[in-house]
Amino acid sequence: MSYVENFETALNKNYTTPYHELIRNAAYIGTPGKGILAADESTGTIGKRLSSIDVENTEENRRALRELLFTAPGALECLSGVILFEETLYQTTRDGVPFVDVLAAGGVLAGIKVDKGTVVLSGTDGETTTQGHDGLGQRCAKYYAAGARFAKWRAVLSIAGDSKPSELAVAANAQGLARYAIICQENGLVPIVEPEILVDGDHTVDRCADVTERVLAACYMALNDHHVLLEGTLLKPNMVTPGSDSEKISPEFVAEHTVRALMRTVPPAVPAIVFLSGGQSEEEATVNLNAMNVAAARLGEKKKPWSLTFSFGRALQQSTLKAWGGKEENVGKAQAALLARCMANSQATLGVYAGDAAAGEGVSESLHVKDYKY
Ligand code: 13P
Repeated sequence: MSYVENFETALNKNYTTPYHELIRNAAYIGTPGKGILAADESTGTIGKRLSSIDVENTEENRRALRELLFTAPGALECLSGVILFEETLYQTTRDGVPFVDVLAAGGVLAGIKVDKGTVVLSGTDGETTTQGHDGLGQRCAKYYAAGARFAKWRAVLSIAGDSKPSELAVAANAQGLARYAIICQENGLVPIVEPEILVDGDHTVDRCADVTERVLAACYMALNDHHVLLEGTLLKPNMVTPGSDSEKISPEFVAEHTVRALMRTVPPAVPAIVFLSGGQSEEEATVNLNAMNVAAARLGEKKKPWSLTFSFGRALQQSTLKAWGGKEENVGKAQAALLARCMANSQATLGVYAGDAAAGEGVSESLHVKDYKY
């Protein structure tokens, strides 16, 4: 039975244990050829994106943007999940169809951002931990009832000299992610575990690889301590690259470092790794993902245990946002831009992207924002 048939059966099935549902949904999201659109920017963050195209940050404009994304002809075929902000989970199309139903009709699971942002860890040099555990179980139950089937929690770590990330930041964020993950699973939501190591800085790719391995190893230790069912989770890591102030390296080199760091730290029980784009341009993120799948294919299926796909925010929406510019008459053009990026990334998950979308307007512009908040 294919993953898609599994999903359809899954929707109509009474589960004997909630674990079956978690495992099926996590595997479905990781279906090669598909990926996640991260459209869960908080009200403040989406406001910055909207102001970049001179659009006011009103509830109606946020809704209109999300409707444009979710109803783009052909785009949902390249997606298995969309991450929503709480406000969007309860919104509808202009004609009154709940967004969750629009997504389900296209075979796409709704996800929900459940963290409440970061706070500084006392006694560190501005390092953070993520908050939002209070009342999380009740919120997850409510989101499940509204149709959400997976969740996202973003932990943020930074690299600087030999001192960052500190032991405290690594441990606190790993514990925070693991506690979040088990609370999600108790309430039927597949947790996306996202320990993002920011690209900010002038570090080398080797330093990024070293820190990525250290952080991921700590996360999987904590997930094990908290009795999280790994088959019902997804990992959302950064790609392993040099810092934003360092020289760029080739996609093949990014791929080699990233796949090696993951092979060393992510258990085979995890069905899929869904990368964040982290300020890369749209095209750069796609080309790097493609190179990873080419590199992983060389290892052979016996060695590569998980699918490698995308959960991009900025790198899926930037050219769409620009093409839209908040104008009704541009909706078709904007939806075509989204489809082009979705198709390119779908191909990249299979390692067959040939660069067809590289000529799109603005797709090679860097999307790096220092100390990015979601
Ligand atoms: P970017 O792809 O814009 O880095 O964000 C994805 C995301 O969901 C971060 O939490």
